[in-house]
Amino acid sequence: MSARAHTFFAGPAILPVSVLEDTRDAVMDFAGLGVSIIEVSHRDKSFDKVIQEAQADTLAIAGLSAQEYSVLFLGGGASMQFAMVPMNFLRKKADYINTGEWSGKAIKEAKLIGEVIEAGSSKDSKFNHLPTALKFSPDADYVHITTNNTIYGTEWKTIPDARNVPLVADMSSDMFGIQRDFKKYSLIYAGAQKNLGPAGVTLVIIRKAWMEANGSTTIPTIMRYKTHADGLSLYNTPPVFGVFVLGRTLKWIMKEGGLTAVQKRNEAKAKLIYDAIDAHPSFYKGTVVHPADRSLMNITWTLPTPELEEKFLAEAKAKRMLGLKGHRSAGGIRASVYNACPMESAELLASFMNEFARANGH
Ligand SMILES: *Cc1c(COP(=O)(O)O)cnc(C)c1O
Repeated sequence: MSARAHTFFAGPAILPVSVLEDTRDAVMDFAGLGVSIIEVSHRDKSFDKVIQEAQADTLAIAGLSAQEYSVLFLGGGASMQFAMVPMNFLRKKADYINTGEWSGKAIKEAKLIGEVIEAGSSKDSKFNHLPTALKFSPDADYVHITTNNTIYGTEWKTIPDARNVPLVADMSSDMFGIQRDFKKYSLIYAGAQKNLGPAGVTLVIIRKAWMEANGSTTIPTIMRYKTHADGLSLYNTPPVFGVFVLGRTLKWIMKEGGLTAVQKRNEAKAKLIYDAIDAHPSFYKGTVVHPADRSLMNITWTLPTPELEEKFLAEAKAKRMLGLKGHRSAGGIRASVYNACPMESAELLASFMNEFARANGH
């Protein structure tokens, strides 16, 4: 295998080397059974252990109890959750906070089911900040928030108070990258391929009481959260491989010292890169206007011209830094520095940014 590159892709994204090694081994021989993890039955006892530990570890890291919450591993990506959430819970109206492309897609799906109120939006300023003047409807079925905006580089560090309305969060790109009060949420979902595992599995944490009392019972069986919760996420064949890798990543998070340690390292990595942006204000322009809104996970900035951005990307690639091109809808540069991104990669990127600015007259 060639030496590892410095990986800044937004998703699918970097995973810890030890997780890749465990996965490689399990692909060849899972649990000493002489079969691959991708050959074993999801009903086999050996896989029960994998899925049950992944559920228990998710709750342990989040500080939640199995009495109150169910953990599900579903297919369909976070995008399917955009539809499942309103199908299950939107009766009359729901509040959505519009902070980017992904929120917009969630809103679009919810509008197919019921009334959507935008409790706040930063669309008019190209999502370059998080809206502050939020207006919640006291009678909403739920409030939906996107905790980290993968494309525009904003992240809610403090979650606005939706009072007594159930809170639903798309945490796809910062799930377990930052400590949160997970008890505040009635439903959390996260496509694993950003910060937790491979594409193909979506983590869902749902408050049982809310699901039991409010989940629709007339939508197709597979679309109901209750179906998956009652079946311990084995109603149909779960994404076995994805669950395995996600499970290994959870063990890695715990070994690293849990969310406090992980967040501290993420803050240090992000600071290196934001400092490099701020050190050359006539050359690099951060796309997020309020420093408090800056994401720890996805760092976005522009250079003076598209030509300089191309040159920046080419030189970075020559130094084996991959995945720095901004999202096609936002342009510019984006460095995704998820949990598994090593400090050395952030250091290398920051020092390259300083060099590149100087070499180009700044
Ligand atoms: C990537 C992403 C999605 C879409 O995830 P899929 O798994 O591709 O459906 C949704 N929300 C956020 C915040 C994302 O970053």
